[in-house]
Amino acid sequence: MKIPRRAFLGSSLAAMSAAPLAAANPKPGKGGSGKRGRREPDPSSRPPVVISTWPFGKPANDRTLEVFRSGKGGLDAVEQGVRQAEADLSNPSVGLGGIPAAHGIVQLDACIMSGPGHRAGSVAAVEGFKHPVSIARRVMEETRHVMLVGEGAQRFARDRKFEEGPAVTPGQKAAWEAWKKAQEAEKAKVPNHDTIALLMLTPSGDLFGACSTSGWGYKIPGRVGDSPIIGGGLYVDNTVGAAGATGIGENVMRYCGSFLVVEFMRQGMSPTEACLATLHRIASLDPKGYDLSVNFIALDKRGRYGAAGTGQGFQYAVACDDFSKVLQSPGVTQKPVGPLGGNRL
Ligand code: ASP
Repeated sequence: MKIPRRAFLGSSLAAMSAAPLAAANPKPGKGGSGKRGRREPDPSSRPPVVISTWPFGKPANDRTLEVFRSGKGGLDAVEQGVRQAEADLSNPSVGLGGIPAAHGIVQLDACIMSGPGHRAGSVAAVEGFKHPVSIARRVMEETRHVMLVGEGAQRFARDRKFEEGPAVTPGQKAAWEAWKKAQEAEKAKVPNHDTIALLMLTPSGDLFGACSTSGWGYKIPGRVGDSPIIGGGLYVDNTVGAAGATGIGENVMRYCGSFLVVEFMRQGMSPTEACLATLHRIASLDPKGYDLSVNFIALDKRGRYGAAGTGQGFQYAVACDDFSKVLQSPGVTQKPVGPLGGNRL
């Protein structure tokens, strides 16, 4: 049943007391704070609400809502949203259009989580399949396992007739050949990389999430990043909220990043506060400090959403019944003064 907007806002406000709703976006700044060290309260939306990483998350969010509105459930919706990103061969970070590993073949990582039942499925280092997120879902639904990797995951997918695709696109093959030559001349640049992590809250209060990436470009074959790691690149707790990550996976998975964001929300932080607190926690432990290239998105059970990243922050996409847009997250470069700098971290 559709909840009238006014009724939803009213009940949310009553439940949130200390965190009034605001249409304002989080403001960038030191420690994620706006003027006088205060941050705007996190925006909130009446569910269904979808949040995902990067501007390429916007069409994925739109697809997620379209599938949901057609009468499918939240799990189908997040899977189809991420499949939209995987199918875009012009995206060098997700799906078979991605930058290959050092041997010239694209290796894909993906996972999916259902808040109801606390179920999860995951695949890593999968070559030649178009939709690793759907293979991950099958692992979740048809096996007693959570994660399959490499040849085993491919055999599982082949047996179930998942759609196969090229080992690498012609464009990425040419770029890889140029990279090989540059590497021999010791002039190779580290290529860019991104991930789609996508989270959804349904009107019935259930949370779902999915995540997919081709990972670090020209990585050592077999390298697995944070994206398919439950609690690393994605975590969903149906009682609290959900979180996802993008950036250098090694700097996320050593800290159980998405799990930590959800745990901070459990302690009462808003989604943006939880993302910021997680970045500060990682920076406080990591020898590289804030030089991490790590970004998080988060969505709580009340429909509040937020994000934060190191450096200048990053762009993420949000969609609900009223809008579909790309937002800029706050960025952090140093330890904050005030409550987030204290023992709560
Ligand atoms: N987190 C991904 C990985 O390390 C890449 C990214 O999101 O930039 O594989």
